[in-house]
Amino acid sequence: MIPLLSGDDTRLMPQAPAPVTMDKLVSLCKRRGFVFQSSEIYGGFNGVWDYGPLGAELRNNIKAAWWRDFVHKRDDVVGLDSGILASPRVWEASGHLKNFTDPMVECKNCKGRFRADHIDLEKNCPTCGKKDWSDVRMFNTMFKTFVGPVEDDASVAYLRPETCQAIFTNFKLVQGAMRKKLPFGIAQIGKAFRNEITPGNFIFRLRELEQMELEYFVRPGDDERAFDDWLQHDLDWLTSYGVRRNMLELLEHPKEKLSHYSKRTVDIEYKFPFGQSELWGLANRTDYDLTQHSKASGEELEYFDEETKEHVVPFVIEPSLGVDRMMLVVLLEAYEEQQDKEGIRTVMHLHPRLAPVKVAILPLVKKDEQLVAKSRAIFKELRGELTVQYDETSTVGRRYRRQDEIGTPWCVTVDGQTLEDGTVTIRDRDSMEQVRFPSEGLLDELQRRLRQPWQRPG
Ligand code: ATP
Repeated sequence: MIPLLSGDDTRLMPQAPAPVTMDKLVSLCKRRGFVFQSSEIYGGFNGVWDYGPLGAELRNNIKAAWWRDFVHKRDDVVGLDSGILASPRVWEASGHLKNFTDPMVECKNCKGRFRADHIDLEKNCPTCGKKDWSDVRMFNTMFKTFVGPVEDDASVAYLRPETCQAIFTNFKLVQGAMRKKLPFGIAQIGKAFRNEITPGNFIFRLRELEQMELEYFVRPGDDERAFDDWLQHDLDWLTSYGVRRNMLELLEHPKEKLSHYSKRTVDIEYKFPFGQSELWGLANRTDYDLTQHSKASGEELEYFDEETKEHVVPFVIEPSLGVDRMMLVVLLEAYEEQQDKEGIRTVMHLHPRLAPVKVAILPLVKKDEQLVAKSRAIFKELRGELTVQYDETSTVGRRYRRQDEIGTPWCVTVDGQTLEDGTVTIRDRDSMEQVRFPSEGLLDELQRRLRQPWQRPG
């Protein structure tokens, strides 16, 4: 490979990067096809967002990365894909019917509703500025529906508010089928629904969300160590995908505020532009769920230890991460604006494995038929192996910028020299360095680069 000394048309000026704001990110996400407001043509639908072509790719990549690292790369974790709907008895036994509630308060003046634990009731209403609060009441945030043609009490069902309960109800089946020995985990990725009182902050708090959850079953007594191990593992996972450690904080839930099932909960919080908030929850759910489902169903949800001939009800450690929140953090962490002689260069420093488009193929000149034919041939060869875009419109500098803005890690330019010696230039998004490389080895080279550990610049 021969490094090129110049070639990129963007010359940086030394200036502090502007901090990312939610407005800038939301605007980029809409403009470039990452995230759209649900039902926008009808004025929107609160608490739901639609993911556009690049958003769909990014989400799939986030989920694939999590599945790869939490399931495929481990021999102690297996996967599950359960229904969104389940017997309502599940939610009765788990305590959700009684306890999956948020405290709600209403402003009697403007009728605005708020999470009572998210605002200061000593202060005036943030919407109308008056102070006339109702009593606080508990509101169950599970979505109700009816199963079958008759809408009566007997046909009520709930959309799952978390994915993990089916892991508990299937515990015995999974363990038996896969012959797993303690400690082992069951992982699941899927949609969950919460009738949030105040959805908002873009894709941070949604009514339709997606979760990546792992239930890790251990012997009672091994739970505290497993908790610490998972906490470290989760932090390492985040930083390996480019989340800066100094943007994360740990929030230890005080004993009196723990959920009804939890012995210990730590939230990994992120410093969002709108304030520090939960990204990832880690809970020690003890044997609560298995015991509850055993009692309610009459099925023993135990583990039989062949060696000691003992029956144990395992404790469970649960790392629970929202796909949407992870996506928001990934986008915020990636966003950078650089000032150069032509204005602002917006670049998304996405981890290459997460980037929606891995490579763009750019013929240097659109009018040169041979260049176009060669570029199209390379494009076709890569397509299906990697997500690749072909772009021949406007100057190559502008095309680089379009790719920078969606986080494409590499641009391949096909020029006159390609026709002579078969080499193309590979331009790196983060360093803007360009190297010449033989086009026939391009796929291998890009796949090699994708496997490399990656570090967020700066
Ligand atoms: P909060 O207190 O903010 O309502 P929670 O403690 O109820 O959140 P968990 O039940 O621990 O949240 O959910 C696990 C993870 O699922 C969260 O860390 C978050 O990443 C994601 N999540 C939960 N609720 C939502 C939501 N409404 N929208 C998007 N993601 C969510």
